[in-house]
Amino acid sequence: MRKTKIICTLGPATEKSETLRQMMREGADIFRLNMSHARHDWVREIVPRLRRIAGEISRPVAILLDTQGPAIRTGELKTELALKPGDIIEFTVRGAKSEEKYSVDVNYDGLINDISVGDTVLVDNGVMRLLVMEKKRNRIRCKVLTQGALGSRRHINLPGVRVNLPPLTKKDMEDVALGVDVGVDFIALSFARQKSDVEELRRVVTKLGSAAQIIAKIEDQSAVRQIDDMIDAADAVMIARGDLGIECPMEELPIIQRRIVQRCLRMGKQVIVATHMLESMIEKPVPTRAEVTDVANAVFEQADAIMLSGETSVGRYPVECVKAFDRIARRIERSGGAGYGANALLEDDRQKMVASAVVLANSLEHAKLIVFTHHGTMARHVSNMRPERAHIFAFTSSERVCRQIVLCWGTHPILIEFADDPNQTIEAALKYLCEKKLTEPGDKLVILSDMLSSGLKVDCVQLRQAKGSKTSRPRKANKSMMD
Ligand code: PEP
Repeated sequence: MRKTKIICTLGPATEKSETLRQMMREGADIFRLNMSHARHDWVREIVPRLRRIAGEISRPVAILLDTQGPAIRTGELKTELALKPGDIIEFTVRGAKSEEKYSVDVNYDGLINDISVGDTVLVDNGVMRLLVMEKKRNRIRCKVLTQGALGSRRHINLPGVRVNLPPLTKKDMEDVALGVDVGVDFIALSFARQKSDVEELRRVVTKLGSAAQIIAKIEDQSAVRQIDDMIDAADAVMIARGDLGIECPMEELPIIQRRIVQRCLRMGKQVIVATHMLESMIEKPVPTRAEVTDVANAVFEQADAIMLSGETSVGRYPVECVKAFDRIARRIERSGGAGYGANALLEDDRQKMVASAVVLANSLEHAKLIVFTHHGTMARHVSNMRPERAHIFAFTSSERVCRQIVLCWGTHPILIEFADDPNQTIEAALKYLCEKKLTEPGDKLVILSDMLSSGLKVDCVQLRQAKGSKTSRPRKANKSMMD
């Protein structure tokens, strides 16, 4: 069982039922709908399809709706513009007409006010660099510095420019309402620049009657500078390295990644490492050695999840990408992790109790952590301490919670009816684990649950041994070169 969770972005390469089924079978845990590209009718089709297939193969799978956010993007182009250094291109707003050979409209009317002559414009994840030469009422004249093909809905970054876009655009509001309507489990806020942006999304989501979890995407310098506030406001954080690597000096990126993972683990929030992890697999069936090492690094840091973007939305080898993530993650997990969970803040008594259960599990051979959770909080606490070897089985009676804790590192969510007497629920859970061969006779079961004591429900940690006669465990096959 893998501990690091896999997020796959969906797109034309992965919309067919058979492909989705294969991706789930190979270990995809969460599917991401990127609203920079996804249309509403497509979302309304794909969400029930995902739920149906997950039901058919009895796998808890979550859905993440990722807003476009206050991002500046190019509009629609009939064909890509092949630009070379020295070419002139005009960015227009409000559909203004250009007399230049190359021009494209952008989605942000205020661009002209925010930008200055001499600023750099980066397009398509920084692949293309342009210099602002002149500003007109509805047009910005730029000189191309690096060649590239400029296409529709390409992302524009303006490093160091303070953009006055609201945290949620009109489109975001419509997309969030759609996400709530189809019942997504997570909603990610792109370009969250400050705590109040995240709070605003939460207000909107709550008002719409949803308990979807809020993910703050960290993708610019402002968010990095206020990282503790951002983590505090969100349920989870995504290190959106595509934009972050453009908005910040590239050599800072690995340090920023590691610090955000450390801070999230300290503050008890889930963290996702995203973008360009297996980029070459968009075209090729195997990753580069450098990509393998990048994925391995995120797994070693014990991020909750690693994410595929273009690799699975438009790539030629989406299923192979999931297999590659799975294979790398399993191997690196066996070799140990950074252990940042040891610095987790223990702010209340329940967290302290969870910490003691994790210490107990760490001290035992063949231990399993079993947690019963109504809202997912106890499961998150256990996962956040990053137990050394024990897998975490989290039982809940809520389908939504079951899907949301899919994101938690090392945690296997299981849906179960909760009986009035917690002991009955525990017995049913242990029976389930035994029947599904998720525990073996002799395993040490560290159980976190409610217990009835003199008629009152109290929190409790129990140590039990899985039933049955102890069998000798099979020798590990395929012993690795470095074990
Ligand atoms: C990123 O920039 O890394 C990211 C995940 O955001 P998007 O794909 O929406 O640009």
